[in-house]
Amino acid sequence: MSLESLQRQIVACRLCPRLVRWREKVAKEKKASYRQEQYWGKPVPGWGDPQARIVVVGLAPGAHGANRTGRMFTGDESGRWLYRALWRAGWGSQEASVGREDGLKLENVWITASVKCAPPDNRPTTQERDRCGDFFQRELRLLTSARVYLALGGFGFEAVARFFGLRPKPKFSHGVEVGLPGERWLMGSYHVSQQNTFTGRLTEVMLDRVMQQAGRRAGLSAGKG
Ligand code: SF4
Repeated sequence: MSLESLQRQIVACRLCPRLVRWREKVAKEKKASYRQEQYWGKPVPGWGDPQARIVVVGLAPGAHGANRTGRMFTGDESGRWLYRALWRAGWGSQEASVGREDGLKLENVWITASVKCAPPDNRPTTQERDRCGDFFQRELRLLTSARVYLALGGFGFEAVARFFGLRPKPKFSHGVEVGLPGERWLMGSYHVSQQNTFTGRLTEVMLDRVMQQAGRRAGLSAGKG
């Protein structure tokens, strides 16, 4: 199986009735400011450089971000923070990520989430998490050049820890690093959600430091400015 065929399977998936209903309801009702837009309203596959050394792992698509644009972390404030940081690290070809056809290219980085459909209140159930975990695990297996799994938030962190069967379960914190077999690393960062960025819990400096840390562990340089 290739990443492309996995992406196609993900986009066609309707296995979780609650999430299918929710993502399609959001896509139909829309946010007032996006009323003229056609929402994606389907599962959102990961994307980026298939040879990525760093895999960024979020929780799930945002209702009016990735669920609208069809590209992970694209079209909302969280994504604005993430892609700007990737651009500053030198791994994104442009600062902004606004839609699937915006010309953005990622080098050395793959962006995904452990659940592929937008959940109500950003909270998938355990059943939904496990069901989508099959896609997530297949995706990680196909990213054979990955050296660092950078989880944004505890949910993605636990998903990667589960994938590697880590015991005891490592504790999530900002900047944490956990060694994995094959000279690979699981790293944690506070999520780029507005809850963290608006309150100053996560600053751009903190995010840049985590990117630099990830770059070092992955054998890449980070930082163009
Ligand atoms: S969350 Fe995953 S398993 Fe559930 S419908 Fe979406 S893509 Fe399918």
